[in-house]
Amino acid sequence: MEHIYDTIIIGGGPAGLSAGLYASRSKMDTLIIERGEFGGQVATTYELDNYPGSIENCTGVSLSKRMKQQAEEFGTQFAFEEVTHVKLEGDIKEIKCTKNIYKAKTIIIATGAFPRLGGFKNELELRGKGVSYCATCDADFFEDLDIVVLGGGDSAISEAIYLAKFGETVTVVHRRGELRASKSLQEKAFNNPKIKFVWDTVVVEAKGTEILESLVVKNVKTGQVNDLKADGCFVFVGYLPISELFKGKITMTDRGDVITDEEMRTNIPGVYAVGDIREKLLRQVITAAADGAIAATHAEHYIENKLASL
Ligand code: NAP
Repeated sequence: MEHIYDTIIIGGGPAGLSAGLYASRSKMDTLIIERGEFGGQVATTYELDNYPGSIENCTGVSLSKRMKQQAEEFGTQFAFEEVTHVKLEGDIKEIKCTKNIYKAKTIIIATGAFPRLGGFKNELELRGKGVSYCATCDADFFEDLDIVVLGGGDSAISEAIYLAKFGETVTVVHRRGELRASKSLQEKAFNNPKIKFVWDTVVVEAKGTEILESLVVKNVKTGQVNDLKADGCFVFVGYLPISELFKGKITMTDRGDVITDEEMRTNIPGVYAVGDIREKLLRQVITAAADGAIAATHAEHYIENKLASL
């Protein structure tokens, strides 16, 4: 007989793992499908100091490992596959993957977001050859070298602080004259002697034949163009939701953020969205984890109400 899960969670970042924990703790038959590494974006974050309790060298990797272990201990099952197609309408939802087809009464979408490109010339040609989107993955390639960080948000500034442990210099290039990052991160970065700032400036081109050698930068106020020596360029200019699979099926913004209500319900009964894929103000581990808990709880109620009406 075919197996029908109570809930299938697509994505194993903090939002998905938290949904898994809450669902399996309430005895729901729960499967998380993940195509890559568990932990999502937080697993690529070195220092994590704004998740309550994340003290004493808590890293993104250690937190995600514990989240996965905790969900597993309560009975969450895991599949490592890429989802290729989803059928969300009706009482039994269908998730088609590269190897298997899975069925469930409810679906929790937790696919997260991916880094936006900087949009400069030769960015893709020099990707992996000096241009990077993940400091924890690539920082040690740039020990004692000159690093440029592009962006002015929390990601750019927290990663610049981390990269300063490796590089000889870290230069933050930001398109405006003030940072978007939280004040506490700003303070840390301004007090770090290795970190310098180039304001009102954008990167126009990455230069280098085999590997990155320099960046062409342009001051947006004066129009002045300069060459900035760079062995590494870390791009942190925001994230875009991973929602392609659901386009035309669930309601989302023009950018692709899934619209939910406060209970994480999408426009389709029994389908929820949690974490960075949602349209929301604050994208943090704590809000992702909260979304997961809420969605799992409502998914349980949804199933109970369905059974009661039979
Ligand atoms: P973000 O907050 O959207 O910031 C993106 C930054 O990149 C902004 O400074 C923006 O400039 C700049 N930018 C955007 N497009 C650009 C372009 N084409 N060229 C040059 N610069 C460009 O993104 P994020 O920093 O990745 O953060 C995403 C979310 O995750 C936020 O909600 C953030 O709070 C959260 N987060 C939190 C933490 C933490 O709490 N420790 C760490 C990482 C991320 P403008 O400022 O001029 O718009």
